[in-house]
Amino acid sequence: MSVVAGILLWSLLVGVCRSENALILVPDSTGFVQVGQSGGSESSGGLRSESSKPPWSTDVAENDWKYIVLHHSGTAAGSVEAIHREHRSRRDASGNNWLGIGYHFVIGNGNGMTDGSVVGTFRWKDQIHGAHSGHAVFNARGIGICLIGNFEERAPTAKQMAAVRKLVGMLAGRFSISGDRVVGHSSIRATSCPGKLFPLKELREIASKEAMVLTQPAF
Ligand SMILES: [Zn+2]
Repeated sequence: MSVVAGILLWSLLVGVCRSENALILVPDSTGFVQVGQSGGSESSGGLRSESSKPPWSTDVAENDWKYIVLHHSGTAAGSVEAIHREHRSRRDASGNNWLGIGYHFVIGNGNGMTDGSVVGTFRWKDQIHGAHSGHAVFNARGIGICLIGNFEERAPTAKQMAAVRKLVGMLAGRFSISGDRVVGHSSIRATSCPGKLFPLKELREIASKEAMVLTQPAF
């Protein structure tokens, strides 16, 4: 497919999802808000929330994403702000503070964030590396998505599942990420994340379907 056709198709898809949001999401659970920080330098790190744009839209050139890495927070409650604060206090191997929240997207569960809300963090907005996988390649080329909850103990909420299906489908189609490159954190390193009750297989199937749709030749 030509680049132009790809862009056109992407625009169409974003348009479709925007109108879907407008139709099916009530104001209280729009979820699809975007937060980020102006700038994006190492030392910045404030969050700002605003905008009715879909969380996957960016104003900068897109990174060459190859993977989607799924996580749970491992906590019953959580929010972008709380994770951001906690990650800001961490230091990397060189002793430098982390930039802030290590994920590109967070999906709330109703405890600390609206159930099913999807928030793109500054890392997505600025299309920069994540700090979520413990592996250089997956941090550099992997889109880190964290769902609030402990999926060792209970499954994601229905709204979280609806949101993550949609998000993974959009990202897989956009960046041609097939199911075999949609991984749980535990595939990368020894951790229980994203939990035994997280339906990874279903998301991998969605990704393969979406990635195939957009990579089929035009003729
Ligand atoms: Zn994880």
